Amino acid sequence: MPFELPSPFNPVLASFAQRPNFIDVNDSYPVSPPRAWAEIDLGAMKKNLAVAREAFGGGALMAVVKAGAYGHGLEEIARSLANENIVFFGVANVGEARRIRNAGVETRIYLLGATWSEEREEIVARDWTPCISTVEEAEQFNRLAARYQKRLKVHIAVDTGMGRGGFVADHLVESMRRLDLLKNLEIEGIGSHLPSADEDKEFTESQFRRFRSIIDELGGPQRFKWIHLSNSAGLLGYDKDACNLSRPGLLLYGVSPLPGFQEKLITVMTLKSRVTLVRTLPTGHGVSYGRQFVTTKPTRVATVGIGYGDGYPRHVSGKGAEVWLRGRRFPILGRVTMDQLMVDVTGADDVIEGDEVEIFGPNILVDEIAEKAGTIVWEIFTCITPRVTRCHIP
Ligand SMILES: *Cc1c(COP(=O)(O)O)cnc(C)c1O
Repeated sequence: MPFELPSPFNPVLASFAQRPNFIDVNDSYPVSPPRAWAEIDLGAMKKNLAVAREAFGGGALMAVVKAGAYGHGLEEIARSLANENIVFFGVANVGEARRIRNAGVETRIYLLGATWSEEREEIVARDWTPCISTVEEAEQFNRLAARYQKRLKVHIAVDTGMGRGGFVADHLVESMRRLDLLKNLEIEGIGSHLPSADEDKEFTESQFRRFRSIIDELGGPQRFKWIHLSNSAGLLGYDKDACNLSRPGLLLYGVSPLPGFQEKLITVMTLKSRVTLVRTLPTGHGVSYGRQFVTTKPTRVATVGIGYGDGYPRHVSGKGAEVWLRGRRFPILGRVTMDQLMVDVTGADDVIEGDEVEIFGPNILVDEIAEKAGTIVWEIFTCITPRVTRCHIP
């Protein structure tokens, strides 16, 4: 039985409305379209990938896809990048690595953080690539690799300022001597991480120099197949020096962590919702919890079907955040609630129930929302909840 779609209804939404597993439908009732969804433009992501490649002077790339590809859908993003000549997918944990393999993608996996002891046998068995922070974990990997009669490729992580993982730089030369004795490990790469590439150029440049001198102390760049230091900001804003691999995340998703590069990138995720109701409130009427906003004149208010339960940050309340509707901006009134927010559409008589609303995307950049919420874009992306249907556009 064909579903009856409410109008106006865009083709993207219509396409997933045909797939009953995405939304609750049955034979007796019409489709129930989601109130908030994210359109994810895979073609735009590939263009951003090309920008990353060019900025890195043709060096190799690890695509960072941790946290569900920054909320963009891990399996879909991994499949979409599977034939794009990516050397590694960078993930946070074994669970994410499994999901990539279960999606049928064979690209090498790099585990960006420390692993649990119990996970290491699977890592060895499946040839995933851990980064090593201690001699003890290296020894365990070595024993497991011997049992599997293989040489496991590993990367040395070195802490040049992040303070989160890796060998503390001062102790590395001595540790390397011990790692070299582990015959079932192949030390394929060395990496470090930049804590403030988007905030402190001077410190970051000193980190590049420090990383370079550590590599020289260990025998020079020819000792390692892969040398990597940069995240997105490092890739865009600094010379790559000895590095031949970069680990961009955010920039693939169309956001530059450094000013001046945003024009080169294309929005990948557009978060959308719909007007569910339009009413005119009289003067002196409160809007939303806490009545932080009270009308001073008759006010036409559109209620929109998205809230902090979808991951839209409640912290933008009262900060002048806007949405995009019928080709223009409209301000949010009062506090964002769990499932709904209210917008001032006074004077915009064309706004009607069912209208599509851009919450962020090409017209309202996600940076703007992050700034008004007092946070960073990475957090906005990864806080979008499972209730928001992700629609991938090939
Ligand atoms: C998350 C992460 C990245 C990617 O950072 P972006 O700023 O999103 O490009 C790179 N390297 C490591 C170790 C990370 O944890």
